[in-house]
Amino acid sequence: MSTDIDSLLRSPKAYLLARKAIEAMEAHRVWPTALNFELWMHFVAAKDSVVAAKINTLIQSGVPFTDQVGEQIAAEFLPGAKLSGEILDAGKSLSEELDSVSRAIESARETSEAYGQQLATATESLAEQDSDAVRAMVENLTVATRKVREENQALESQLADTTDELGRLREHLEQVRRDAMTDALTSLANRKAFDECLERTVGQAQQKDEPLTLAVVDIDHFKNFNDTWGHQTGDQVIRYVASVIGRMAEGARFAARYGGEEFAVVFPGEKASVALAAMEAAREEISSRILKRRSTNEDLGAITISVGIAEVKAGDLPASLLERADGALYASKRSGRNRSSLADLGSEPRAA
Ligand code: C2E
Repeated sequence: MSTDIDSLLRSPKAYLLARKAIEAMEAHRVWPTALNFELWMHFVAAKDSVVAAKINTLIQSGVPFTDQVGEQIAAEFLPGAKLSGEILDAGKSLSEELDSVSRAIESARETSEAYGQQLATATESLAEQDSDAVRAMVENLTVATRKVREENQALESQLADTTDELGRLREHLEQVRRDAMTDALTSLANRKAFDECLERTVGQAQQKDEPLTLAVVDIDHFKNFNDTWGHQTGDQVIRYVASVIGRMAEGARFAARYGGEEFAVVFPGEKASVALAAMEAAREEISSRILKRRSTNEDLGAITISVGIAEVKAGDLPASLLERADGALYASKRSGRNRSSLADLGSEPRAA
């Protein structure tokens, strides 16, 4: 749940908002699951949030709000909700598996302790007993040895099963970790992965005194486009821009969907001039294609993007680099869109 909703839920308005969310869910025939409730709290409490906008679009287009629709929205906009559920499941299986291993190990330990005691007693007795007593002792030892062997075999087979299960859990956790870092709509890295990448790569660039450039991208007039053609076509446009940017961001370059219609590309080891050339090629490719509306084959026209580019300077932190790239993006927007601007260099934006 976002911090805003979290703090609202602890404010005097909390019960009022919760009642409103339940009423809205009832009116739209939405099951009051925990996930749906969280989404509809955004709807009533944060009307300008992306979640509220998404739900509004669904209501207007008459799409029923099924649990599956709720899960999709949560996966896209509230990745933490999906993640915590999956991590809980994976963690539960892992701890059950570890419990069963501990039980097996404990039982094997008890058996071998008892066996050790039997051996010690037998050794003492052997020294002083006659042959019948020795025979009885050997029989006892044979039984105890067989028991330990059987226990060990059971333990081995349980350990083999557990190793397989742990391997599956590890793969599942790895998948969850990848999902948590991936934007569901475009398959590019998401904002969280981008933040981590920027933090890491800016630190490395500063340490090694190497260049690093950041480009931020915004689809021009996207809101108008969405209002005119609907959110499904809007989503496809986001995917199209993502596919061009993703193809350009090969090697060490790192492309992410930063927000709704915003993207970011990190160019570790590359100077602003190189990043500018790459972004200009992507911008030209995007603006030169006439997209079609898939359902009706109507021409949607060409989509354009605006780009802001900043190269890391001595003393830069991720936030200051991002701020300068954003400033350059706004320079591109102000001077007519469909262009790329470099931060700090006093250069004129490159128009199409
Ligand atoms: P998608 O619809 O999943 O398509 C994936 C890829 O399949 C496309 O990558 C393209 O290589 C190929 N493809 C799909 N449909 C067609 C088609 O009708 N003609 C041709 N020639 N190839 C097709 P691409 O081009 O990088 O597009 C990535 C995504 O961008 C698409 O995913 C779609 O969501 C969106 N997109 C691209 N072009 C258009 C378009 O003209 N109209 C709409 N509505 N969306 C588009």
